[in-house]
Amino acid sequence: MQLSNNRYQLTNGVDPLALVEKYGTPLYVYDTAIIERQYKRLVESFSVSKLRINYACKANTNINILKVLKNLGAGLDAVSVQEVELGIMAGFAPQDITFTPNCVALDEINAALKHGVRINIDSISILEQFGMEHPDVPVGIRINPHIMAGGNDKISTGHVDSKFGISIHQLPHVFKVIETTGIRIDGLHMHTGSDILDANVFLIATDILMNAASNFKYLEYIDFGSGFKVPYKDGDIETDLEEVGERISERFNQFCKEYGRELTMVFEPGKFLVSQAGYFFVRANVVKPTPSTVFIGVDSGLNHLIRPMFYNSYHRIENISGPEGKPRIYTVVGYICETDTFGTNRKIANVEEGDILCMFNAGAYAFSMASNYNSRFRPAEVMVHGGKDYLIRKRETMQDILRNQVEANLEERLVEAG
Ligand SMILES: *Cc1c(COP(=O)(O)O)cnc(C)c1O
Repeated sequence: MQLSNNRYQLTNGVDPLALVEKYGTPLYVYDTAIIERQYKRLVESFSVSKLRINYACKANTNINILKVLKNLGAGLDAVSVQEVELGIMAGFAPQDITFTPNCVALDEINAALKHGVRINIDSISILEQFGMEHPDVPVGIRINPHIMAGGNDKISTGHVDSKFGISIHQLPHVFKVIETTGIRIDGLHMHTGSDILDANVFLIATDILMNAASNFKYLEYIDFGSGFKVPYKDGDIETDLEEVGERISERFNQFCKEYGRELTMVFEPGKFLVSQAGYFFVRANVVKPTPSTVFIGVDSGLNHLIRPMFYNSYHRIENISGPEGKPRIYTVVGYICETDTFGTNRKIANVEEGDILCMFNAGAYAFSMASNYNSRFRPAEVMVHGGKDYLIRKRETMQDILRNQVEANLEERLVEAG
């Protein structure tokens, strides 16, 4: 979103305040031109003969976003059988969907297999069970290379204490399972976590994966996961994608030559593709000066955007209805009966009650992590595509709050008790 002539605008000059007027707040808006830009940038960064980008859809599971990514040529990375089913409904071919679950039972993997998707297995026990049942179905395995990466504990997944993947040190055990079950491993995968800053981390992990790969005979693909960092504020460091792309491609091409076959290079980003495409619009309910702080209380909270409270993540906040006001220092909080702070001591153009604030980087892990806590409705979602706006999720109503609640008949018991 750009500021010009003191007005914010989305791609093609779409006016965010007009969207707020039309659909109300709180409101998520996704600008598909940015998804497209990110997808192209990713594809252009790697120079290998076979490249596949699987969108990690847990970042944003609106079926319209899935369709946009499918039309760009992406595959899908699903972490639950429900995400697999959403992907199929969005029109992805089953072979373009990879099921990469963690700590699920064989039943769920079998359910995904029935849909014909690729399976990626994350523990030796499940590999053994799967191999006994389906020795003829090739699968990928998730390797934990044990490197520390990622912005914080909750999102770094590759380190030594992590629950994710099969330890690189347990490969001998994997080979034993292959021998006893006859299962074929057609892909190796790693996903070391989100927010990786350093190109070298990728390269060290790549080296570990390539070394492991030379021990497998039937590989078709190597999946390097994700973790590309996106900027959250001015001056933020971003993964140097072009550099990472060039160096990994070189290492990968050299490996394929030694291996004697062109493998597919796979990446599965979520945040990188959709984070910056999303904006979250809220209204300032109250401006509340206290002896120490000026709070802005908005018509949202941790029920709609939990990342600041859960991960300490930073979301830039701007006053888009009054961008020309004198900047002041505010702490922006939600209306939930807990301390739900979106941003502390932020410099924002003078806010009046009723002003519309925008939180940036709201396309990934935002709506998809929203809840009905405090019995509040989840926001509506709008997609801006080719200069037009589309409502892609209705605002909820009381019916949504009550759906699946069953009122027990307590009178019955009173009658029985006489
Ligand atoms: C969540 C997830 C991703 C995406 O991570 P981002 O940081 O959003 O890019 C990729 N692969 C797997 C297996 C995941 O669970």
